[in-house]
Amino acid sequence: MNTPDHQSRGHAEFSPSSLKYVAACAGYQGRDGTSPAAEMGTRIHEALEVFDPSALHTEQEHEIYEQIVKMEQDFMSNFAEIEEELNEIQVEVALDGTETWGTCDRFLILKGSDRAVMADYKTGISIIDPPEKNWQAKAYTTGAFQKYPDIKEIVFAFYVPQHSATLHHTFTREDLPTLVEDLSRVIKAGEEVRPKWESGTPELEECTPTQYCRFCRHEDTCPALGGLVISVAKKLDTTLPDIDPTDVDNPARLSELFNIAKIVENWSMSIKRKTLDALKDGEQLDGLKLRSMGRTRKISDNATFVKIAKKHGIDLDTLLDQVNFPLAKVAKKAGADSRQSFLDECTDAGIVETSDERHCVATQ
Ligand code: SF4
Repeated sequence: MNTPDHQSRGHAEFSPSSLKYVAACAGYQGRDGTSPAAEMGTRIHEALEVFDPSALHTEQEHEIYEQIVKMEQDFMSNFAEIEEELNEIQVEVALDGTETWGTCDRFLILKGSDRAVMADYKTGISIIDPPEKNWQAKAYTTGAFQKYPDIKEIVFAFYVPQHSATLHHTFTREDLPTLVEDLSRVIKAGEEVRPKWESGTPELEECTPTQYCRFCRHEDTCPALGGLVISVAKKLDTTLPDIDPTDVDNPARLSELFNIAKIVENWSMSIKRKTLDALKDGEQLDGLKLRSMGRTRKISDNATFVKIAKKHGIDLDTLLDQVNFPLAKVAKKAGADSRQSFLDECTDAGIVETSDERHCVATQ
């Protein structure tokens, strides 16, 4: 059996899975790179392609895999016999003056050959839009109708185990012109705005800040996002002056922008605290989950610690190699009279390392 390798396959510039973000903002461009969640998703998809979970890494991956297999079996029990079963089907999506392509996880042509079930597995925790509102489903369905001219009806399903949900919708061939029109509009807007990042920034009004900015590679420099931050800050402090969000490199404006950044930072810290509390209270929040950072432990009795270490073969020199003494704190213990000579002696012994001077911005 061939081992699937999803990691190395390419993506269209405006791939079906990114259209949700491009529809929200034509300037959106995803970041390069991967994440542990994306890598887990890839492994589960590869396992589902060949129905072989042996290469999965964790118990959680096995659980998600099993859940998806079960969800698909349950959902497919609603349909007549399957005539043809295709995994990882690549669909070309021909649009009005543009195009895209993508790979959908399952395409099952039903007996009679005029109906099919198309499905995509969602292994993450994000809330998934139902197929009738989902740009990825719309793009895959469009490509499938174009590839299989005899098919009149496609039932599109998302299996979302982390929300125990199978989301489905039936598209008909009559939906095709509207699907093509909607997809063409979104991609053509992206094709017009995205290239402007190569030579500067798009116009302020061409970008629309949304919750998806956090996935956009231009998040740090986007003027529209700057404008949004300034309007948030002005709501929090009505005395703030009007500021041009594109003027971030002008030193004359930096103190105003710095104050705005502080106001929004404080507000954002309070939102982060509230979000953490809500998750700790068991609330379900879209795309967010509680992650344990472990617990810190520290020794409360050094003398006993040294004795126990010695008993376990760890001598004093080895222990001292593991610690950094707080110089200023220890110097205070020498008392006011000998504090300075204590510090001088340490310096003369060549045992004090001094870092580069550190700075922060202080307000007057
Ligand atoms: S950061 Fe700017 S370009 Fe990116 S999605 Fe947000 S508003 Fe659009």
